[in-house]
Amino acid sequence: AADVLTFGETMLSLQTEGPVAVGAPARTTLAGAESNVAIGLARLGHGVSWAGRLGADEPARLILRTLRGEGVDVRHATTDPDAPTGSMLRERLVADVARVHYWRAGSAASRQRPEHLTEALTAGARVLHVTGITCALGPDPRAAVAAAVGHAREHGWTVVLDVNHRARLWSREQAAQVLRPLRGRIDVVIASDDELPLIAGDDDTDGEEARVAELLAAGAREVVVKRGRDGAELYGSDGHRIRRPAHPVPVVDTVGAGDAFCAGYLSGLLDGLPPAERLRRACTTGAFAVATAGDWEGLPHRDELTVLDAPPGSAIR
Ligand code: ATP
Repeated sequence: AADVLTFGETMLSLQTEGPVAVGAPARTTLAGAESNVAIGLARLGHGVSWAGRLGADEPARLILRTLRGEGVDVRHATTDPDAPTGSMLRERLVADVARVHYWRAGSAASRQRPEHLTEALTAGARVLHVTGITCALGPDPRAAVAAAVGHAREHGWTVVLDVNHRARLWSREQAAQVLRPLRGRIDVVIASDDELPLIAGDDDTDGEEARVAELLAAGAREVVVKRGRDGAELYGSDGHRIRRPAHPVPVVDTVGAGDAFCAGYLSGLLDGLPPAERLRRACTTGAFAVATAGDWEGLPHRDELTVLDAPPGSAIR
């Protein structure tokens, strides 16, 4: 059995320095929140299975080859012969502003159904990681998330949901309608402070504390709130509340910080670290994503977790 099972949409990502309209050359890589988390976990030495759905195409080959190379188990990934792997294009327009385009409607991942997960679920895991992005892809992936969560609960796995709102895929109202009913079946909720209202509270609920209290009352063991450069906060059902500032680093590329944070948190959970240490590892891996180029390329291997503690400008010998 794997330590962690995750699934969701991983796309071909074309990245250019400059506008496509003038013929900027592109680099090809992969992008996807769940596969970012999977790579982060594999680099930290955990057994992680990614069970997304891909087309029968070249982007799928790149994605599978890369995930395999990173040590992610892809034996339960499935292929849709009738739909393409989704793709995206990121054009860097000026030094720190990029424009992103997606071609993911009708993709293989948007057609992932519960039965495509049967083998992955039967193989077992300690933790199930799901995100709101998969729920946003359509009714089939949404049903797949519900089925996976149901199976995980029945078999005593820990269920972790990263709300991960994507405004390009659905509205806040739609997200709330789908995510709120999941509340009672999630052990750990991870959300940005502005995403909390999508899963807890209503118009009359005032503030973060009331929303967190509602999630804990619904059965969550822990609620982890991300605050970007202000760090993060962890609330536990036993009443503990721990704040942690962000690890100060030079900002190179903030994309993927949330996924890296999630990988660090899950790693701490699997290692049985106490809450404060789990939060510390999460902030460390989040800072790695911010201080390095790419969504996942700069994530640390286990022996590199202390690199950020080295004095700036130093060489590690
Ligand atoms: P994204 O969706 O872009 O991946 P997010 O909104 O899910 O990000 P953030 O709150 O932006 O998540 O970042 C997650 C964590 O990464 C933060 O809690 C923090 O620990 C770390 N982090 C984010 N921004 C910075 C920063 N500028 N410097 C250091 N650490 C940061």
